[in-house]
Amino acid sequence: MKRRTLLKTGSLVLSLGLPHLARGATILTVRVWPAPEYSRVTIESDGALVAKQQFVPSPPRLAVDIAGITLNPALKELVAKVKADDPNIAGIRVGQFAPDVVRLVVDLKHPIKPQVFSLTPVAAYQHRLVFDLYPVQELDPLEALIAERLKDPIVKDPIAANSPPPAQVNPADPLGELIAQQTQSPSKPAAQGPAPGTFATQTIAGSAGSTRARGINDAKTTPSPAATTERLIIIALDPGHGGEDPGAVGPGGTREKDVVLRLAHRLRDRINATSVNGNPMRAYLTRDADFFVPLGVRVQKARRVQADLFVSIHADAFFTPEPQGASV
Ligand SMILES: [Zn+2]
Repeated sequence: MKRRTLLKTGSLVLSLGLPHLARGATILTVRVWPAPEYSRVTIESDGALVAKQQFVPSPPRLAVDIAGITLNPALKELVAKVKADDPNIAGIRVGQFAPDVVRLVVDLKHPIKPQVFSLTPVAAYQHRLVFDLYPVQELDPLEALIAERLKDPIVKDPIAANSPPPAQVNPADPLGELIAQQTQSPSKPAAQGPAPGTFATQTIAGSAGSTRARGINDAKTTPSPAATTERLIIIALDPGHGGEDPGAVGPGGTREKDVVLRLAHRLRDRINATSVNGNPMRAYLTRDADFFVPLGVRVQKARRVQADLFVSIHADAFFTPEPQGASV
């Protein structure tokens, strides 16, 4: 479908017969957006590009032939734009493969599933050819959160785990208590809440239907499961925009995508240092770097970690400098 649109654009361009378009498109700029979830390579040009790509498994690399262009300094910059710590890309090589075909080889750190698509001009952007390189073996974000929690000194240290302060001996799950109050028969004293040990691994109402409990049982280091089984309270923080989408841009060039990411990092530190009735809170970021995440994926990611709360962070622009406060 996209391919067909591209071809149509191509024939329209030719029929107009404009000299600078007839010779093909010129690469204007290239961008690389590295992130653990996927790395994106964007090639921006003054005309639509048609590319053919092929994934070669050993060693993992993506070979891309772009027709109708010649190698120019803007495209050569791609080579230097790959960072050593890019989670997915090891390097990029470019060369003039045929008189009007440029071959691009993206060397990869592991097998990837490529998604290639083109975007038509919008706002400050011209035609873009986009390569999204998703690792075949994706990280389970919930497992990562739990693994990170198990690395915490309080969990590792048997003394700390064995002798929590009195308030944590019988940690209560406020949400679980609320649910219990609503489902219990009136004759039962609601204030008691669920029996110790039963609430600890239950998931909250928001995750109903999920079969995965989120409790961390570190019974290996401690004898009493009631006192040591805990559940993570997961707050999904969703910094808006990212990557190609800067969000609002302030008069001094401040970009919303950067402001909200910094805000999310500060919030994460606060959340990770907090626990509610002995249940540690953990922040999960829908994006932890400067890359674009579609709206649906943001929600999907929060669901995958069974987040208790989803907080979308934006820093909207307004036409006058007077407004203050937050929009929620
Ligand atoms: Zn926004």
